[in-house]
Amino acid sequence: MTDFSASRTRFFTESVIREMTRLAAMHGAMNLAQGFPDFPAPDFVKQAAVDAINGDVNQYAITWGSLRLRQAIADKMERQYGLLMDPDREVTVTCGATEAMMATMLAFVEPGDEVIVFEPFYENYVPDAAMSGAQLVFVTLQAPDFRFSADQLRAAFSSKTKAIIVNTPNNPCGRVFDREELQVIADLCQEFDVLCITDEIYEHILYVDRGHVPMATLPGMYDRTVTISGLSKTFSVTGWRLGYLTAAPVLSESLRKVHDFLTVGAPAPLQEAGAVAIEQGESYYPELRALYERKCDFLLTALLEAGFKAHRPEGAYYIMADFSDLGFDGSDRDFARHMIEQIGVAPVPGSSFYHDDRAGSHLVRLTFSKSDETLAEAARRISRL
Ligand code: GLN
Repeated sequence: MTDFSASRTRFFTESVIREMTRLAAMHGAMNLAQGFPDFPAPDFVKQAAVDAINGDVNQYAITWGSLRLRQAIADKMERQYGLLMDPDREVTVTCGATEAMMATMLAFVEPGDEVIVFEPFYENYVPDAAMSGAQLVFVTLQAPDFRFSADQLRAAFSSKTKAIIVNTPNNPCGRVFDREELQVIADLCQEFDVLCITDEIYEHILYVDRGHVPMATLPGMYDRTVTISGLSKTFSVTGWRLGYLTAAPVLSESLRKVHDFLTVGAPAPLQEAGAVAIEQGESYYPELRALYERKCDFLLTALLEAGFKAHRPEGAYYIMADFSDLGFDGSDRDFARHMIEQIGVAPVPGSSFYHDDRAGSHLVRLTFSKSDETLAEAARRISRL
């Protein structure tokens, strides 16, 4: 039979994270693979969604996002980071950060352009690049502290570089770039006239006191930065598909054209609830941090006691665990299968976060974005390793 698939689909495979979720379900394993909470979203956020539906907010919102939500985002960016932005021209609501990233790549990258990405990376960036025709150039964050070498980063920049993707706090390794590191990236972006695309979806899930620094706040960076974030992780509503883009007006114009024809808009009643969530966010963020700090300690202790090597992440809700001391003979994919089928806990194989499979072949990623009961049972099972 004719293969009708376009060549752009041949450069990536199905999501390994969601494949692990399926395998977990098939084998009745606990899903510590896919990063989403299995505990309830906050009541005040859920109630706002119910109220919006009952209040008949059920038709398309404005394509760029409901004004109340865009205003809430703009206010938050000002209060929290001192960034002044016009909700009418610089804020765009999308169907999750996933759409935001795809729209950004389609809006700015020409086939053949080079896009720099740090690895380990979030798996979506590979299909995002394939669908926009970008050539990814990788710069490795070196374990155990996941810092980059400024020389290696400089060597990755060239006249062909169109953009760099910066994900901080990082999924999967939990690294939170400090101001000096961001400055190194910012200087290179300006020297080589490169766009900076920053994925800051875990901005409120932090375990370091230095706090999260958005790239857009660095001198000279606002006009060349597209900032991506969303409500999924912060408010435990990954299924609502609420992400957003903030960028200077000229950048936002291109982003909005792509977004409009990709999805028209994110779910209208959920946008109203999203506005309520962000308006009240300040009193909720400390609670969120305390919750995840506790869960992180719990899973980290369980992994170390079972013989994994692992470091405490600085942010996000994942632990990269090295299983090379466990005496297992096989790849990370074999080990993940072993954990799912024999131990009853699903991780993500480490190689799916690196362009060269060998780099992550001794690692698995586990999420602690789960209820205390789920984590306790997972810890009990992991101790059997
Ligand atoms: N961001 C989450 C993770 O890394 C969920 C991925 C997904 O399935 N979209 O696990």
